[in-house]
Amino acid sequence: MDSFNCKCLNCGHDFHVTEGGGMTSTVYWCDSCGNTHLQPRYAPRLMRNGLRLPSTLKREFKHWQNIFGDRATIADDGSFCVAELSSEQVERFAEGFLIDYLSEPERWGRSGDCWDEHERALMLQLRGACSCGGQWLLPSRSTSNSQPHDLHKCPQCRSSRLHAVPLFDKVSD
Ligand SMILES: [Zn+2]
Ligand SMILES: [Zn+2]
Repeated sequence: MDSFNCKCLNCGHDFHVTEGGGMTSTVYWCDSCGNTHLQPRYAPRLMRNGLRLPSTLKREFKHWQNIFGDRATIADDGSFCVAELSSEQVERFAEGFLIDYLSEPERWGRSGDCWDEHERALMLQLRGACSCGGQWLLPSRSTSNSQPHDLHKCPQCRSSRLHAVPLFDKVSD
């Protein structure tokens, strides 16, 4: 999570912005007015990627077998593996499921599979455009994180001409 103190170079308004989604969500930004909209970060199904874990963890094999069933195997060298799923094997969600899932953020998990492109597109379509008519976008991240991304707008005048100063999290108990 990155935070910034901002001053609008257009109207002089001072405000604060925070970036980055939670553990369970991804933040989309309206490219026109700067509003935000949350989407689930992970698809609630077994991850399609394969895994290979060292034999030192072998005792936990049952755990992986319980989750992945036949996809979990032990290799000759003792390491255990979870086979990757092909794109055809990934369980796709029906629209009705996604409508329910989007409306219940408390069900969104901290892990799971990635979404397919068309699922992401469908979920944004289900949400509908921003009330201002703008499109939902994912900001491109700067590598330094020393400046907020370019989809931020001044909450008062909606200008994107901002002067930003990063705030660093202070350690406290
Ligand atoms: Zn908007
Ligand atoms: Zn402003």
